[in-house]
Amino acid sequence: MHTAGDVRVEEREDPRIVEPTDAVVRLTATCVCGSDLWPYRGVEPVDHQVMGHEYVGVVEEVGSEVRSVKVGDFVVGSFVISDNTCEICRSGYQSGCVHREFVAQTIGTQAEKARIPYADGTLVPTPGQPDEELIPSLLAASDVLGTGWFGAVAAEAGPGKTVAVVGDGAVGLMAVLAAKQLGAERIIAMSRHPERQKLARFYGASDIVAERGDEGVARIRELTGGLGAHSVIEAVGTQEATMQAVGATRPGGHMGFVGVNHDVSIPGIDLFFANIHVHGGPAPVRRFLPELIRLIWDRRIDPGKVFDLTLPLEQAAEGYKAMDERRATKVLLTL
Ligand SMILES: [Zn+2]
Repeated sequence: MHTAGDVRVEEREDPRIVEPTDAVVRLTATCVCGSDLWPYRGVEPVDHQVMGHEYVGVVEEVGSEVRSVKVGDFVVGSFVISDNTCEICRSGYQSGCVHREFVAQTIGTQAEKARIPYADGTLVPTPGQPDEELIPSLLAASDVLGTGWFGAVAAEAGPGKTVAVVGDGAVGLMAVLAAKQLGAERIIAMSRHPERQKLARFYGASDIVAERGDEGVARIRELTGGLGAHSVIEAVGTQEATMQAVGATRPGGHMGFVGVNHDVSIPGIDLFFANIHVHGGPAPVRRFLPELIRLIWDRRIDPGKVFDLTLPLEQAAEGYKAMDERRATKVLLTL
């Protein structure tokens, strides 16, 4: 991305092994993330930035110390590089690894190949070469599914719980899927787009709330006997969505926030009187990848449906445009 709104596909030098813990992956598919729209829209600064952090592909080369993935393996990687061995990783927070590196900032996987540092800690091989039809779902696991899943786990979605999801982008829809898988009793999706409402229902939403802001909060309270939801997942990152999530969570309930924050400030006094648990941040996707790959491999979940536009990598600029104009929820780029 040269500057806001200016995406170009250009030749770069082929990545190669630099550290003995690296792998070079030839990508099979990649995609455009909702968070890529922040710089695209000029909300985040951008200056000749490599783009992309979601990826699946085949390992082409490994460094001398790589043990758990080998050349020829089909792998799914997390959008945060992690060693998976430090104390933070072992506690399940690979997105806070002492060696963390954000793929989006330095690697850029909207590309044909990528050098992945800490390959053993970042990449997870699939049980075999996947069928073509599984590729979108495996790609979703790399970020949106893993992030929605973390949102649901952070919000403690589970049996007997009413879960509300703020945001109907790919992550919000994946949070609905996750809440369903985790056994939530009732799932309220907040969405005003008919197509996305339909997809939310497909993934397990039992109720749809189209209202936003204070009206949205009032509607959630109305649906929950005046109490608010047990679990609320914030999957947008704006001030309005965040306050909607805080307001929709019942006292003692849990709010999971996974939308990348932009100029959000929660008034301390509101948080104080809300009496809620708040947990979130960049998702430790690596923690969930083995389980998510298994669920996809066994065809028990179908997260790949969030991709509603597929383009060749050369047309990446059109992919950004389609998402920016909300003509597409999520764009898959093929190679
Ligand atoms: Zn670590």
